[in-house]
Amino acid sequence: MTDSTALQERYERSLLGVFGRPLAVLDHGRGAEVWDVDGKHYLDLLGGIAVNALGHGHPAVLGALTEQAAQLAHVSNFFTTRPQVELAERLLEIAGAPTGSKVFFTNSGTEAVEAAIKLSRRTGRRRIVALEGAFHGRTMGALALTHKPAYREPFAPLLEEVVHVAFGDLEELAAAVDDTVAAVVLEPIQGEAGVRPLDTAYLQAARELTTAHGSLLVVDEIQTGIGRTGAWFAHQGSGIVPDAITVAKGLGGGFPVGALLTLGERAAGLLQPGQHGTTFGGNPLGAAVGLAVLETIEREGLLDHVRRTGEWLAGEVTALRHPLVRKVRGEGLLLAIQLTEPRAGDVAARALEAGFIVNPVCPDAIRLAPPLIITQQQLETFVAALPVLLDTTPSEETA
Ligand SMILES: *Cc1c(COP(=O)(O)O)cnc(C)c1O
Repeated sequence: MTDSTALQERYERSLLGVFGRPLAVLDHGRGAEVWDVDGKHYLDLLGGIAVNALGHGHPAVLGALTEQAAQLAHVSNFFTTRPQVELAERLLEIAGAPTGSKVFFTNSGTEAVEAAIKLSRRTGRRRIVALEGAFHGRTMGALALTHKPAYREPFAPLLEEVVHVAFGDLEELAAAVDDTVAAVVLEPIQGEAGVRPLDTAYLQAARELTTAHGSLLVVDEIQTGIGRTGAWFAHQGSGIVPDAITVAKGLGGGFPVGALLTLGERAAGLLQPGQHGTTFGGNPLGAAVGLAVLETIEREGLLDHVRRTGEWLAGEVTALRHPLVRKVRGEGLLLAIQLTEPRAGDVAARALEAGFIVNPVCPDAIRLAPPLIITQQQLETFVAALPVLLDTTPSEETA
């Protein structure tokens, strides 16, 4: 029995079965590459689901973590630290936040969404409008905004005044937003629904409608933010200024850090002293690593790199003209190869076997969200392998 198989069996005996059997037992990584406990090598085209922005073992992340851990790891929110203040300032800067904007730190995406829900309640309204296909997290509040019935229904009743409107349908949105709506919550690109971008006109209309009705516009950038799409935040191309932005995944480069950004005086004034809190959120360890991630993205020109590399990759995959590929959608290094048939599971299994980590995000789409530092040369090896990986026959489909 290999080490992998033995550990997978022990995993199944000791870990709650919510994730199913792990695909592999990973041991170490370097840049965009990882190795499992049996020494098998993989090119990591998923980056821990858009988390490992700087890949694995990046010296900036390592340095920030070790230096900050040696200096001060945790202090409670009775105190603050230099990295905490600096990370808040930096996040507001890259968000282009207007005067009066503020940050609340969390340890995860779902907690950032919870904070946004509590913020929205302070408008004195309860109704929240989210989109079909939305994924906003798994805790009881965020789960109510997540659309997938299989995630929600076993835990009903959730927050009751949540409505899901059809994705990208402006008329439905306009009909749903009135003066009783506390917030409209949306992802600029729906990650878990298969990398589905909302268009600029939709984002702009959502901003206009929410402004007109005094509702908050909350943009969930947990997956799309921190350079993933080639901009600091995916909504920035549309020119809108939301009332709140949720961030997590890429921010800590693998260390759990999240944040709610409240933009402008009104949103920032909604939560009063004592109305929300966290033990770990904003700790100096997480803040130091968040700062290191942002600094590195800036210093290494990664936004530009992500734009160029993502465009190149999308172009190369499209140019294969493979009959199983319908199109490539997404932005920067958050892409999905949309298939003409529901065979993503099979393609991803073949890819893993061949040493490429990709994600069959839905039956007909393969999600790619590699580290932002991945090189074109590394992506070339994937493009070269792709025709063989795509040559599955329907009979091979297992899952
Ligand atoms: C991952 C994700 C979340 C939840 O984040 P967790 O850290 O898993 O709680 C929320 N919204 C979006 C858009 C996500 O991609």
